[in-house]
Formats: sequence, structure tokens, C-alpha cells
Amino acid sequence: MYSTAPIDSTGPDYTNAVARVLTTLTATALLTQLQAIELRFGRTRPYRNAPRTLDLDLLLFGDETINLPELTVPHPRMHERAFVLRPLADLAPDLVLPQGPILDLLAACSDQPIQRLASR
Ligand code: ADP
Ligand code: MG
Repeated sequence: MYSTAPIDSTGPDYTNAVARVLTTLTATALLTQLQAIELRFGRTRPYRNAPRTLDLDLLLFGDETINLPELTVPHPRMHERAFVLRPLADLAPDLVLPQGPILDLLAACSDQPIQRLASR
């Protein structure tokens, strides 16, 4: 778990994490499931970039490139967000994204403070 201040939004700090999962779902079915979990946690979308209770994004789906109206993979903004890159790099330090090696992308985000929270 990692703590960051909101970007392009307001409110308290966010807690961020990245998970790697094995699934038999298609990418769109997985997105539907992620959105169902968001709803169960009381997620509403009152306006763009509103503070949110839970935001579950699909960052990567194997090495697939997906360009559908409702789903873009790799996630189009992940390469510029320390709150994605830092947890993801800790999980997969050798990963190479379309924009470059993950550790190079993370270094370019050094202006975005991020704090790793103590693990239990
Ligand atoms: P944010 O971009 O801040 O995560 P939302 O969670 O409100 O904003 O997502 C808005 C829309 O983004 C969703 O309805 C979804 O269809 C679309 N979307 C496109 N690509 C992705 C992705 N890779 N992961 C999650 N949502 C995505
Ligand atoms: Mg989202």
C-alpha cells in the first residue's frame, strides 16, 4: 500500500496498490467485474475527477493492446503516474511499457511524492 496526495482533484490522501491476478475472464468482462466491485464499495461518479471511494483500473492485460470505446489497455495515463508506477515497479521491476522501461518512467515522476506504507 502506498500513500499519495490527489492529482487533479481534492480531498484526503489516497491509498494506492497494484495487484497481479490470474483470470479466465476476457478484458472487458474483467473491467465489468472491477466496476461492480467499485459499486459495492459505494462508488459514485458525480463529476470528472471527483474524489472517489474506490477506483479500480485495468492497467495491463498480458501483453495485449486494447482500443475499445470503454476500455484502453495499457491504461493511457499509467506511464505518468507515480502512484501506479511505484507499486507496479515493486511487483515487476523489469517491465517495459510502450513508453519505456518502468524504472525510467518512475524516475521521470520524481516530483510526485509517494510513500510506501508499512506492511502488516
Ligand atoms: P479514471 O480514469 O480516473 O479511472 P473512471 O474510473 O471514472 O476514471 O473511469 C472512466 C471510464 O474509463 C470507465 O467507465 C471505463 O469504461 C474507462 N476505461 C477505459 N480504459 C480503462 C482501463 N484500462 N481501466 C479502467 N477503466 C477504463
Ligand atoms: Mg477508473
